[in-house]
Amino acid sequence: MSSAQQRAAVTGLSHLIDGELVAGGGRFAIVSPWTELAIAETPRATPEEADRAIAAARRAFDEGPWPRMAPAARAAVLRRFAERLQARRDELVHIAIHQAGAVRSLAEGLQTDAPLAAAFGYADTAGTFETIESQTLEGTPLPGASGRRRSRLVQRVPAGVITAITPFNYPFRVSVQKVFPALAVGCTVILKPHPTTAWDSALMAQAAQEAGVPAGVLNILLGAGPEVGELLVADPRVDKVSFTGSTATGRRIMELASATVKNVILELGGKSANIVCADADLEKFFATEPGNLKHAGQGCGQLTRVLIEEEIYAEVTARIAEQMRRIPLGEAEDPSTGLGPLANRAQFERVLQYIEIGRKEGATLMCGGEPVAERAPGFRVQPTLFTDVRNDMRIAQEEIFGPVLVAIPFSGAEEAIRIADDSIYGINASVWSRDTEKAWRIAASIRTGSVGVNCLANVTAGPHGGFKQTGIGREWGKYSLDEYVELRAFEVHE
Ligand code: NAD
Repeated sequence: MSSAQQRAAVTGLSHLIDGELVAGGGRFAIVSPWTELAIAETPRATPEEADRAIAAARRAFDEGPWPRMAPAARAAVLRRFAERLQARRDELVHIAIHQAGAVRSLAEGLQTDAPLAAAFGYADTAGTFETIESQTLEGTPLPGASGRRRSRLVQRVPAGVITAITPFNYPFRVSVQKVFPALAVGCTVILKPHPTTAWDSALMAQAAQEAGVPAGVLNILLGAGPEVGELLVADPRVDKVSFTGSTATGRRIMELASATVKNVILELGGKSANIVCADADLEKFFATEPGNLKHAGQGCGQLTRVLIEEEIYAEVTARIAEQMRRIPLGEAEDPSTGLGPLANRAQFERVLQYIEIGRKEGATLMCGGEPVAERAPGFRVQPTLFTDVRNDMRIAQEEIFGPVLVAIPFSGAEEAIRIADDSIYGINASVWSRDTEKAWRIAASIRTGSVGVNCLANVTAGPHGGFKQTGIGREWGKYSLDEYVELRAFEVHE
């Protein structure tokens, strides 16, 4: 029995509202996807608590010191906030493993250390962020107005009160990615994480309070689902919504935001193509472990459609299947475990349903396709590969969000581009060919937010975001900062 099973569920987690840790009412159980046991319990945010959080964030923006603070002072608070989170790094790793079902290497890297590093980076940026974007002084006298000057400047001002809504797959990472850049430029925030993965947000609430983030600047509501989420989007006191989640929810958010013509950032779903040309360096391609989808395939930019040129289709699919069969399906705490569970029961059932759909559509199940029976209880599905897939099948068009790859044959670069782009999504892609000119041509033709040429694109470097129904806006790195400012132009005639 793992240490998580032996431990009693963690209780006493609180919202953060107007600078206070609030125990709140109701209870929401966070269930470990490895064991199906409750591992933590949060309060369930109510509409009244959402109203108080919005009022606090509005007041902190309109009347409080945060947007008006000297950049160095704001940076110092954010640095203390990042340090308080860093001090709980091992706890955050534990949470990423047991709450989200991440394997240890992923829990440590992308789920914890990368966002912690980003938090420190945004704290530094807060101290140096240029609020005057450009300044053009036309110092020569105006015609007919001797001695007078004309000045024009563009100022970047904080966008206001931000509602940040985050998904279950990379909860801490996505929350940091919204909260820190928004605070760095002087916005105030209400964060609503996914209720099933809100444990890390409870740590964030404690860390913010310990760091002295002023009252109302950051508010965090735990255990809340769509009902509270919709209030936070629709409320006229909120200026902008920063949302990461499914395309279906993104559509709803845009609809709700439209009533007050609210600006939105939408980071939504994907069905990205991994294009392997016949002249690819296959050793390089297989070194990226295309058969081992990170976080059991629960990532927006995962390369879940493998487009393989006909000449090498049989060889490449056989090797991917081989790679999948070798993935160690061990225990949560075992560092050699290569594939963990789906994050929750709904996701587990959804993935199995899609496998059934693939079978009915006539694709060939080359490996996997079943729950991992010997690992029950737990929401684990075998790494699965479908071959003989046509791009018009549902398993090729719809985001499965599980350890399921579909392999689609193509003939020639033009067909690869056509198939890659035949998707409502446009977030990521990779292209593999020894002919760099051809690889570049394919990469530049595809309408996605990032593309790797003979590699996997590094989304953390930014800009990260998507074309088409993957959404609106760009995050990560300096690109996030631009999302949380409004531009204001001044023209001054002396
Ligand atoms: P989801 O849309 O079900 O939920 C996301 C968040 O929205 C949760 O906090 C949820 O409580 C909230 N929510 C649900 N309905 C709402 C409503 N009507 N109004 C307001 N809030 C509402 O998404 P999920 O299942 O948690 O996450 C998986 C999805 O997220 C996948 O589609 C994945 O591709 C996407 N994702 C995208 C990115 C990206 O950067 N593009 C990153 C991570 C995940």
